[in-house]
Amino acid sequence: MKRTGDLKLIQELNRSIILETIRKYGSISRSEIAKKNELSPTTVTSAVAELINEGYVVEGGTGTSSGGRKPILLNFSPDNHYLIGVSISYSKITIADMNLEAKINMKKVYPTNGYTGAALINYLLQLLEDFYAAQQDDRQCIGISLIIQGIVDSKKGVVHYNPVLLLEDVYLRDSVEAHFNLPTWLDNDTNAYVLAEKNFGHFQEVENLIYITIGEGVGSGVIVNNMLSRGESGGAGEFGHTSIDYHGELCSCGNKGCIENYISWPATSKKIMKEIEAGKETILTTYLTSDKLFITPSEFVEAVHTGDGLAVAINDEIAEYLSAGVVNLVHLFNPEVIILGGDVTNQNQILIDAVQQKIKDKTLKTLYQDVDITTSSLGKEFEMVGAASVLLQDKFQFKLTHDNRGLKTNL
Ligand SMILES: [Zn+2]
Repeated sequence: MKRTGDLKLIQELNRSIILETIRKYGSISRSEIAKKNELSPTTVTSAVAELINEGYVVEGGTGTSSGGRKPILLNFSPDNHYLIGVSISYSKITIADMNLEAKINMKKVYPTNGYTGAALINYLLQLLEDFYAAQQDDRQCIGISLIIQGIVDSKKGVVHYNPVLLLEDVYLRDSVEAHFNLPTWLDNDTNAYVLAEKNFGHFQEVENLIYITIGEGVGSGVIVNNMLSRGESGGAGEFGHTSIDYHGELCSCGNKGCIENYISWPATSKKIMKEIEAGKETILTTYLTSDKLFITPSEFVEAVHTGDGLAVAINDEIAEYLSAGVVNLVHLFNPEVIILGGDVTNQNQILIDAVQQKIKDKTLKTLYQDVDITTSSLGKEFEMVGAASVLLQDKFQFKLTHDNRGLKTNL
């Protein structure tokens, strides 16, 4: 966001604080807002007039009076505006229209169709154009928020490195912003998830928090002392490229034995198919048909729960490799919570328990006592909640609380 001077900056900050107060408390009067934030009544009155005019706030009902006229109460209005969240993974592009509480109004999932590099970006712009054109109503779009795997510099809006989608130093944010003339945000996917857990999820009080994604790739987002660690160019948290075997197989990054090559879903899926082809008896073969020659992560997790020998053995192998990496993270960062997210860990409590158990004997006792290994609190729409959180917390300093029905304001 461009700012022309200190006064404008202060006005914007005050507006954010006032809007956040209305969202957080609901049904609140102007004088209460002024008192809570130690702002002058004039500042609150003029900011509220703007917020009402722009449709972020509505007047409704009256409060109790301490003498004199009853005050008019203000409420947050999340549905007059929307944002577009976009998640770009190796196999699919997900686009959703969400309100200002990250509630999905419409979501579409498109396969990447093998597109990479410039062709992928053109395909993305086309999909976004069609999606945006379909939102024909009175609501105003406040911006687009994109999340993607790889090394992403969120300040510059650049995807520095994504070897699978063949993106190198792509100024994706500027391209999208120029194309749609809408403010645009860009961040790494796992950074978005850990920010969402911290600002929107169940871990708002946790100061040292790590989120590990195990899906198409393996990555992490690391919050140290309440701050997201981004590194010099956005590359901090490349957990997938930390080595757990110096003699292991060569990785695309140049290193040997990178953890991603042992526990990502493509690596696991390859292992399963190899065992099936070798004639191993497993319930997993029932998921294969002549039209579907692959197993999905959720089918794998289902098989683990039925006690299928192959699935259980592979799940335990993932836990073994993963715990080797997690032990390193615990010793480096002394976190309070490590969240295991992504397709492979989704509904896979057996894996999470196994990791918690396996790191016990390999971690310094004091550090082990501090750390809790757990699942994501963002629900099945974690990708879209992550995308929305990047925009909402930057633009409005929103802090939401998550429950099973979706996101709601803090009480
Ligand atoms: Zn690597």
